[in-house]
Amino acid sequence: MNNKKEQRLKGIPISEGIVCATVCLLDNDRHTQSACTRILSENIETEKQRLSSAIEQVSLKFDSLKEQVSSKIGKGEAEIFSALKFMLNDISVIKKLNEAIEKNLCSSESAVFKVFGEFIARFESIDDKYIKERATDIADIKYHLINELADERDNFKCKGVGQCEHGHNRIVVAEELTPSTTCNINVDTTLGFVSERGGKTSHAAIISRALGIPAVTGIPDIYNTINCGTEVLINGFTGEVILWPSEETKAQIPDQPSRVLTGEIDNKPVQGFKILANISCSKEVYKALEVNAEGIGLYRTEMEFITEKAALNEESQYQRYAEVVKAMKGNTVYFRLLDVGGDKELPFLNIQKEANPQLGCRGARLLKLRPELLATQARAIARSSVHGPVAVIYPMIVSCEQFVELREMFNEAVKNISCGEILHGPMFEVPSACFVADELFEIADFASVGTNDLVQYLFAIDRGNEQLADEYNPDHPILWSILKTINEAAKKYNRPVSICGEIACDARYIPKLLEAGFKIFSAAIPSIPGIRQSVRDNS
Ligand code: PEP
Ligand code: MG
Repeated sequence: MNNKKEQRLKGIPISEGIVCATVCLLDNDRHTQSACTRILSENIETEKQRLSSAIEQVSLKFDSLKEQVSSKIGKGEAEIFSALKFMLNDISVIKKLNEAIEKNLCSSESAVFKVFGEFIARFESIDDKYIKERATDIADIKYHLINELADERDNFKCKGVGQCEHGHNRIVVAEELTPSTTCNINVDTTLGFVSERGGKTSHAAIISRALGIPAVTGIPDIYNTINCGTEVLINGFTGEVILWPSEETKAQIPDQPSRVLTGEIDNKPVQGFKILANISCSKEVYKALEVNAEGIGLYRTEMEFITEKAALNEESQYQRYAEVVKAMKGNTVYFRLLDVGGDKELPFLNIQKEANPQLGCRGARLLKLRPELLATQARAIARSSVHGPVAVIYPMIVSCEQFVELREMFNEAVKNISCGEILHGPMFEVPSACFVADELFEIADFASVGTNDLVQYLFAIDRGNEQLADEYNPDHPILWSILKTINEAAKKYNRPVSICGEIACDARYIPKLLEAGFKIFSAAIPSIPGIRQSVRDNS
């Protein structure tokens, strides 16, 4: 029972559903607000003891991470945790930390910030790529140490993984939901998401919808308004968020309109059309089969890396890809090559920070710059192609030359691998590619249209900005005209073209997409029954 007066806030609905539960304030950066305090000289020994037990705990954590990564990804990749443990327990590092506590009469947190901060600055200033990269390892140790110290104090709003189990049976509230947060929370037990920032087609929103978890964004300052454990009701249909809801309000929670059609669901294919599924991890393929998806139209492979917080080696990628291809039993799996960049950050790839990541080294550009990433993935995909039909989508293609160059890099990487037939096609999500649709269809086997980015780049509007959510609107004559042009070019060369942006998950747009000429739709799994029904009704 709470005695606070209920407070109603209005945000932007990004994933349907209504839920009332207590909150987990998810703070991935607890270390930035840790207690950097001074201590009394008589507490020096106690503080050193705190530091020593934090080092011990983090060392144990590194051991367990090493075991996990070794079994899930590979022994080689797991070795990084031995190195981190070794650095953390280096006698000279521990000496420096203890000296900082003693000399400056400061808390362990302050000592960690000072000593590790100095190391990071020194490593970053050296003009050597390898040494610069070690700065990231030190930042990782610092992050774990500070988190450990914060966990053990009781005045932090978010007490971390050990205490609130990362949202276990709670509504997760964060300042911003990144794809990495969304992928790393235990989604099986997360009841909802609320965030201050993020748009409807941000990747975190896409993932919440695919998981069927109600979510609302655009609630300013909610993070500082409530605490872990506050009761909150969120309405993912209207965007309403009610803090401390009264008993009357809770009693009035309406029956939820279902995203999935109720009653007789006709999951039979519609003749002349194909409804495929968008997935972000291999296990989702089984959910796709439940709704009778006729293939995987977009496998966002980069999400596998984000979830594992590591660059997967060839074997780990192959295991996942082969599982999906086998499960689809003869229906094509469209693998999108790693689409890194923008809001999909993969810190472990050590990509240089950019002032404008949406216009920077993302998608195709990054693949060209990091050929080893493309080659490893190409081999894993090629090996999986012996189990069933496979197609490769090239993300963020800007020109024919770029597509041809990347396809050659792919083919070169797999030339010694025995594989089945592999189709290659660009993704239309940058306007410049749409202008050369004709030429691209002439040389490609197929194409896929990604309207999430196409709208972003066509109208120069950030898809992840909640303040622009009303203005970010795919229903615009310019977009429809481009989509028609793409379909005409596809028809001319008799190539299949699918649509896999979020516009294809929204039954409202199906009549217009049919009119533009689309016959292949790839959508988030929960929306497939509705899309199929709409295609049936409107074709
Ligand atoms: C798109 O841009 O429409 C798309 C499907 O790709 P993503 O949402 O992953 O950027
Ligand atoms: Mg895209």
